[in-house]
Amino acid sequence: MPPIGPIFDKPTTDKYDYVLIGGGSGGSASSRRAASYGKKVAVVEVDPYLGGTCVNVGCVPKKIMWHAADLQDKLSHHASGYKFTGLNSPKFDWASFKPQRDAYIRKLNAIYATNFDREGVEYHHGFGRLTSANTVEVTRPDGQTYTLNADKICITVGGTPTKPSDEQIPGASLGIDSDAFFDLPEQPKRVVVIGAGYIAVELAGIFNALGTQTHLLIRGDTVLRTFDPTIQETITPWMEKSGIKIHKKTNAVKIEGQKGQLLTVHTDTGEKIEADEVLWAIGRHPLTEKLGLEKAGVKVDKGGNVIVDEYQNTNVDNIYSIGDVQGKWHLTPVAIAAGRRLSNRLFGPEKFKNDKLDYFDIPTVVFSHPPIGTVGLTEPEARKKYGDDAVKIYKSSFRALYFSMIDEEHKEPTVYKLVCVGPEERVVGVHILGQGSDEVLQGFAVAVKLGARKEDLDNTVAIHPTSAEELVTLR
Ligand code: NDP
Repeated sequence: MPPIGPIFDKPTTDKYDYVLIGGGSGGSASSRRAASYGKKVAVVEVDPYLGGTCVNVGCVPKKIMWHAADLQDKLSHHASGYKFTGLNSPKFDWASFKPQRDAYIRKLNAIYATNFDREGVEYHHGFGRLTSANTVEVTRPDGQTYTLNADKICITVGGTPTKPSDEQIPGASLGIDSDAFFDLPEQPKRVVVIGAGYIAVELAGIFNALGTQTHLLIRGDTVLRTFDPTIQETITPWMEKSGIKIHKKTNAVKIEGQKGQLLTVHTDTGEKIEADEVLWAIGRHPLTEKLGLEKAGVKVDKGGNVIVDEYQNTNVDNIYSIGDVQGKWHLTPVAIAAGRRLSNRLFGPEKFKNDKLDYFDIPTVVFSHPPIGTVGLTEPEARKKYGDDAVKIYKSSFRALYFSMIDEEHKEPTVYKLVCVGPEERVVGVHILGQGSDEVLQGFAVAVKLGARKEDLDNTVAIHPTSAEELVTLR
């Protein structure tokens, strides 16, 4: 595929102020902010499409698929409750939807390229590799190389899904990962998803809602084990009730079959599960292996993540790192925020000389069905940090008004929880699950960030009738 946008294939200066390896969310944001300060900036990106994981094989196409799944739920299970007729079992047409979704992503790629062009960021298409603390070698797709000299360099190459090797699990390579999920031309009839984190929950939920027979293999008893227990204990049974066959305390030990044909997953509990696709969703790792970090002396941890301090400085002067590649919070808005602040600090006015991202109280959403929102400490984290006596929990489980018209079987749960500490009952954690939680959380994350107390929420007038009002009326 030809890359989208104006491409530079050689240096245009003897020395750049700032060269970034990686044109994903973080790299784009940081480069554009640096260019806005009049700096000479180049971004090296190996993928023909700018935007990184989020735009191409992550947040954006995933959320589009989530919307499709959500619509299917509404059409299949909710519309009849509201006495809509004539729907005639509407069915999602994956094969014709995929090109439409891809075309939208290509538009976003073009917007990224246009923004670079307009704002003076050079887009160098090729593989970027450090050859010293001040030089980045670019290998173009035609194999030719050239070098960009840089005053400052930022490593922002992101990460990639982790898959076991065939030595670890025979046949593991027959399975796909979340990148390949977005390549599937047809909807598989049966899938096995392996993992228990964000991606496993989100993709299993999409498959299931769209009518694929979905098995989920998890090592523990619940999904999302790093989330508040209330969330884990609500979403896991609901996923089962909504049709996902969750195999608990189960590991895949072997996969047999042929790609594109019948696959059989053998488990350590003695099951044999047949599927058209097997999807690994067991975490992601940084793309640091071939970056030449050792040539510049940049240190990584044992997982290969670039080690940075709170200002995104690596151990090498004038080399920085942001985004998934530095291992902290694999979230697009985190990479963007850290990238902009880094450029403010390096190239901006005096008032930004200490600018950095505050990594506390970062809100995050899992696009499950229904979605989950969480910010701050879980209940166990708060108890550990402040002691049992200091922690007060407010919690409510209820049915959103929307579900009053919908049959019992398909009434989705809603559960809201506040974790408060100290005599002033400062809100240190908000954990919500239920329809609309993805949109509800943002405002409450602002409140947590501002140090809101329970009393401040109580003093906020409710908006009625909504689900969100429950968070300002909890007793
Ligand atoms: P996660 O880190 O979220 O979850 C992976 C989980 O898989 C682990 O927590 C573990 O759960 C399980 N696991 C690990 N190894 C194995 C194994 N060998 N066999 C079976 N299960 C295993 O990783 P994801 O890949 O889901 O996502 C990566 C990151 O991307 C996320 O952490 C998140 O930051 C980001 N992301 C964010 C999204 C969003 O904002 N909505 C959406 C998607 C991704 P357990 O210990 O319970 O077995």
